[in-house]
Amino acid sequence: MKDRFGRSIEYVRVSVTDRCNLRCFYCSSYRNFVPLNHTSILTYEEILKILEVLSELGIKKVRITGGEPFVRESVSELLLKVKGIPGIERLTVTTNGTLLKNYVDILKKSRVDGINVSLDTLKAERFSTITGMPKLQDVIEGIKAAHAAHIPVKINTVYYTYNLDEVEDLVNFALELGIPLRFIELMPFDEKWKEHYVEEAVLFNELSRIGKLTPLETRYGDGPSRYYLLKTKGGNVQIGFISAISHNFCQNCSRIRLSADGNLIPCMASSSRYSLRDILRGSEVDKFQKLREVAKNAIFEKPLKHRMPEAPPPNEMRKLGG
Ligand code: SAM
Repeated sequence: MKDRFGRSIEYVRVSVTDRCNLRCFYCSSYRNFVPLNHTSILTYEEILKILEVLSELGIKKVRITGGEPFVRESVSELLLKVKGIPGIERLTVTTNGTLLKNYVDILKKSRVDGINVSLDTLKAERFSTITGMPKLQDVIEGIKAAHAAHIPVKINTVYYTYNLDEVEDLVNFALELGIPLRFIELMPFDEKWKEHYVEEAVLFNELSRIGKLTPLETRYGDGPSRYYLLKTKGGNVQIGFISAISHNFCQNCSRIRLSADGNLIPCMASSSRYSLRDILRGSEVDKFQKLREVAKNAIFEKPLKHRMPEAPPPNEMRKLGG
């Protein structure tokens, strides 16, 4: 369905847990993090019911994310059922990759259309500094295992002051595997944002030193990425830019989010939320009808655009399906 500004909303990001096995320094305020208790979190059955309603309203694409989706117990149960919902055409997953190699078979069986793996560095020590955990090798093995199983993989690299010197190594890594590399501009979820933020133009210059960047018409996937082809001496790589601050992309936004505790969130940077869990667990006679009504309203009322960095998102990334 269309929102009040005429944007077609077709894509939902579902956070299946607010928990994560990494502690990336920029990813919300994990230092004071109090995880949701298990009863607050939507069951898989509840998520599937909500997806059925959303699909009736025109949602065609589902991304499973978190927190870290693979730390939630039995997430396979959910993954295997999403594409069985009439109207759902695409299933994708965003992961930090640490547990990925154990899930390659399930992803294949779930008919997943692609996965995004977050990877900011190829240096083991730096990986531990950024994420708090020594798991770089697991991530690399996960990426390679998924790629070898012919699951389309994209690398998501958040860039900031710590890893700008690795742009070329990351490009070469993507080039070797023949997969797209997307650079995400750091968003202000944390008071440390200003210290580490690097604007897109600086990254663009770094990349231009490595090769020639040519804009691509093709869009790979459903996100707000702008794609370029980077022609280097070693070959060509598709480079995506996701730059919420340097290039506001809200006019093309087609997504809504479902938080782990069952709130439908029309925009990451806004505080409006609509509890679908309360309807599912409440005493409403026709729950399906009520869910449809509330979800329709949430989509229709999606805000026009974010106001970052002046107005930082009031949400924690891990709770809202980053
Ligand atoms: N655990 C999964 C992962 O690591 O991909 C999914 C959730 S994570 C919140 C999704 C993405 O959000 C990751 O690529 C992460 O790097 C990115 N992210 C987290 N905090 C961010 C921030 N402040 N600015 C930009 N991207 C951020």
